[in-house]
Amino acid sequence: SSRWARAMAIVRELEEKCATPDAKLRQIADAMTVEMHAGLASEGGSKLKMLISYVDNLPTGDEEGVFYALDLGGTNFRVLRVELGGKSGGILSQEFMEASIPPELMVGSADALFDYIASKLAKFITEEEEKYHPPPGRQRELGFTFSFPVMQTSINSGTLIRWTKGFSIDDMVGNDVVAELTKAMHRQGVDVNVTALVNDTIGTLAGGKFSNSDVAIAVIMGTGTNAAYVERAQAIPKWHGPLPKSGEMVINMEWGNFRSSHLPLTEYDHALDTESLNPGEQTFEKLTSGMYLGEVLRRVLLRLAEEADFFGDEVPPKLKIPFVLRTPEMSAMHHDTSSDLKVVSSKLKDILEVSNTSLKTRRIVVELCNIIATRGARLAAAGMLGVLKKMGRDIPTGGVPEKTVIAMDGGLYEHYTEYSKCLENSLKDLLGDTANSISFEHSNDGSGIGAALLAASHSQYL
Ligand code: ADP
Ligand code: MG
Repeated sequence: SSRWARAMAIVRELEEKCATPDAKLRQIADAMTVEMHAGLASEGGSKLKMLISYVDNLPTGDEEGVFYALDLGGTNFRVLRVELGGKSGGILSQEFMEASIPPELMVGSADALFDYIASKLAKFITEEEEKYHPPPGRQRELGFTFSFPVMQTSINSGTLIRWTKGFSIDDMVGNDVVAELTKAMHRQGVDVNVTALVNDTIGTLAGGKFSNSDVAIAVIMGTGTNAAYVERAQAIPKWHGPLPKSGEMVINMEWGNFRSSHLPLTEYDHALDTESLNPGEQTFEKLTSGMYLGEVLRRVLLRLAEEADFFGDEVPPKLKIPFVLRTPEMSAMHHDTSSDLKVVSSKLKDILEVSNTSLKTRRIVVELCNIIATRGARLAAAGMLGVLKKMGRDIPTGGVPEKTVIAMDGGLYEHYTEYSKCLENSLKDLLGDTANSISFEHSNDGSGIGAALLAASHSQYL
């Protein structure tokens, strides 16, 4: 029928526009490398902020004592306590508490958000066993993982550059994140010293390095996406401070904001961007991360419903609601292995209230999931190739090949298997001969543990 022909035309057009042949990925990787150089050369020199983290030493494994971390990065928020055993003692114990961020707090006031966080920390501390209480005269110490772009002014201070991932609290931009947290802790009657302010990528890198010394890059694929890596301090022209003894500096790329004319953008992406809280920003993130993949799918399905009666004569009203189709749901449909695509059928019913879809229709839905997820995963792989190039680790080195482990974390990477498999395979393909020296490690909860480790190595009592 002509409906079906129209539907297929829309699908084929999407497929074409989302195509990511290797040659394109190499152009994108090169563009990433170029932007990295530009961002390191001067403040504001690139869409990539290439933020200096003030972390010039990653954990050694000798860290010792009880330390805390707060992890605020998107959907969930965590409080964590880690007991470190000192010289190769590793992690003796850890405990955490998780809470979701009430949506109204994401767009309210800074005080309300930070009071909420501080109150959870207060509760955690109040309920903990006495053996974790600090000795008299000593403060608890905490690493704060705050996964938004921050211009650091020291290891434990920095101002918010802008919000991402659906947060929008105007009275916070430009303020010192640690000062706001500290004020809120005082209001909640908590006496804790923030000794490290880190991005989740930095935390993941630190946590990853603690368990495997070959870790040199961290990539987060969660609600948003970002990457961090170890750079030579000499290669950071915009850094005018003293050269660190280690000769190294960890860089928080803020690669979610990467943009290049080579990125395969469709009409759906343009519309998503225009209607987002941060138009024109976070282009790479909007193509690759968990907050947006399901939303791109919703937009394609809406066009199919409107222009090709894909779900029958009427457009399902639910399909018009932004973000109604979330990435975990998309992932569940994509992974449906039943012969009659039961999961797809029940998701479409639960989320969009469309029943009696034909198998043919459901197959198309899976195909759309695949097109959108594959594009995202392959673009993320291209970004990683760009970082490896900048580090000189994309080609075989003379002599003993250098091992590079990439610490990975985030709910998208962890749960969307088709996505993470595609990401890893694509990067290996792009690397060719060097593929064997690169490996991935899932750094579960690495960002929180890493923040606690950095809190330890920057303790006021050292
Ligand atoms: P955050 O990035 O907010 O700190 P996470 O790393 O836990 O938190 O990532 C959460 C994100 O991961 C969710 O917003 C969602 O996009 C994605 N996600 C979670 N579960 C799944 C799943 N089963 N399939 C696909 N994506 C998922
Ligand atoms: Mg996180």
